[in-house]
Amino acid sequence: MAVERLPVEINESLCKACGLCVHVCPKNVLEMVESLGVWMGAMAKVARPENCIRCKLCEQICPDFAITVADMGTEIIFKDSQGQTITKSK
Ligand code: SF4
Ligand code: SF4
Repeated sequence: MAVERLPVEINESLCKACGLCVHVCPKNVLEMVESLGVWMGAMAKVARPENCIRCKLCEQICPDFAITVADMGTEIIFKDSQGQTITKSK
């Protein structure tokens, strides 16, 4: 059964807006966005989840353990950047 979640998720309360995850991602999934509601005034956002290949580079480089990537092979269901619901198993 598919799990309802993004392939990569960011814990807003842990993100310190260092930008490392954005730079390391080979598929341009992530981007920095301004956010007045967080203490650094910016945070990483999952902008194009459909491009994620679950390589986990972002999860490994994040110094604040703010990122969780779904394991390869886990079937997930989520909305892509166009608002379309898609299912992916890898
Ligand atoms: S690497 Fe972690 S702390 Fe840095 S911007 Fe990305 S999610 Fe935030
Ligand atoms: S798991 Fe890999 S492809 Fe997906 S957002 Fe992280 S770095 Fe990018």
